[in-house]
Amino acid sequence: MSTKASNVLSNIDLGFCSFCGACIAICPTHVGSKNLDYISEKYADRPVVKDSTKCEKCRHTLCMQICPQINIPKNLFSVDSYSYIEAYYSKSRLPKVLSRAQDGGTATTLLITALRAGLADYAIVIKRDDEWHSKPMVTRNEDDILEASGSKYIFSPLLSVLDEITDRIDFGRVAIVGIPCQLRALENIAMLRFKHNDVVAVKIGLFCMHGFSRDRIESILKELNISFRDVVKINIKKGKLWFATKDGKLLDYPLKKAEKVLRPACRQCPELFSPYADINVGSIAAEENWNTLLVMTPKGKELVEKAISMGLLETRPMDINGIETVNKYVHRKTGEALKNRELYTKEFHNILIITPTKRGKSLNDILEHKTGKSLYLSPL
Ligand code: SF4
Ligand code: SF4
Ligand code: SF4
Repeated sequence: MSTKASNVLSNIDLGFCSFCGACIAICPTHVGSKNLDYISEKYADRPVVKDSTKCEKCRHTLCMQICPQINIPKNLFSVDSYSYIEAYYSKSRLPKVLSRAQDGGTATTLLITALRAGLADYAIVIKRDDEWHSKPMVTRNEDDILEASGSKYIFSPLLSVLDEITDRIDFGRVAIVGIPCQLRALENIAMLRFKHNDVVAVKIGLFCMHGFSRDRIESILKELNISFRDVVKINIKKGKLWFATKDGKLLDYPLKKAEKVLRPACRQCPELFSPYADINVGSIAAEENWNTLLVMTPKGKELVEKAISMGLLETRPMDINGIETVNKYVHRKTGEALKNRELYTKEFHNILIITPTKRGKSLNDILEHKTGKSLYLSPL
C-alpha cells in the first residue's frame, strides 16, 4: 500500500512543479525555521526542502495544500470557467515600454497605471540577470518595472516574496503580474485565508501555454550555438521559440521539438489564462506588436479605463475571429490537461491527491495552538 507524501518534495522530483514559489512563502516557521528555499546552485528552478525531518513535525503539509499542481480545482478543466466580461486588442502608448516590452507592452503599462493612479503602491515583478537567472522583486520604481518587462518563459518563484512583504505592506496595496499557475496558488492561499494574499490589490494574468526550465532553454541555446548572455528577448509565435540576440539576429527553434521535454506540471495545467485574474494579457489572435486583453472583473475594467483615460493604453474591441481563436485554445488546453491529469492522478495518486483543509476556523485553531499566536491567517 502506498503512503501519502509528507511534503512537496516528491511532487517536485517527479516534475509536478512549475516553481511558482508559493510553498516557499507559506512553509511555516513554527517547525524551527523556514524549511523551503530555492537558493541553490544545483536546483535553479525548483524549491529545495532543507530538512525533511522537520516536515514530519509540520503535519499540516501546508506546502501541499497550496501547491497549484496538487490542488487544482476540478472546474478549471471545464471551458465554462474561462468567461470574461470584455475582450480587446491593446497596445501601450508609452514609447519607453514599447521599445523593450513583449508585443504591445500591455502588462507593463497596466502595472505603471496601477501605481500612477494610486490603485497600488508596489508591484511584484520578475527581474532577470544576463544569464537569465530570474528573481522576484517588490518595487515601486517604474524603471524596475520597465527593466522587468518582457516574457521570460522560464519558471520563476514569483510568490516566494509574499512572505517577506506580508507584515510590512498594508492590506491590498500590491499589483502582481503572474502566469495562471501562480495565480492558482494565490487562490489556494486565499482559500486557506492566509494573510499572504491580503496584500494583493490587482492581479494581472499572463496567457501561458507552457513554461520551460532554465536548463531546457540552455540546452536549446546550445543547439543554436549561442548562450544566455547573447539573448535579449525570448518569444513564442507561429509554432516556434524565437531568440533575439544582442547582435541583432533572430533565431528560431521548433516549439514541437522544445515541447518534447515539457514538465508534467505544464501538461496537466488546464489554464490558458487565469479565471482568478482581474485582467489577462496575451498575444494569441493579436496582430504583431499588439496584445490580447481580457477583462475579467470590475476591478480589471477600472484599471483598463484608467490606463485609457490617462493616455497610457490604446484598445480596440476584439473581433469574432479573435474570440473564436481564444476559445479554440481554451478548448485545446483544458482537453489535453484533463487527459493528462487523469493519467497522472491514477499513477501518482499518493502524491497528487490531497484533501484541502476546509475554509473556516479549524486551521487557524490548529496553528494558534501550535505557534501560540495567529501569525498566518487573516480574520474571518
Ligand atoms: S511539510 Fe511543512 S515544513 Fe515541510 S516543506 Fe511543507 S510546509 Fe514546510
Ligand atoms: S508548484 Fe509552487 S507550490 Fe508547488 S512545489 Fe512547485 S513551487 Fe512549490
Ligand atoms: S502551463 Fe501552467 S503550469 Fe506551466 S508554466 Fe504555464 S501556467 Fe504554469
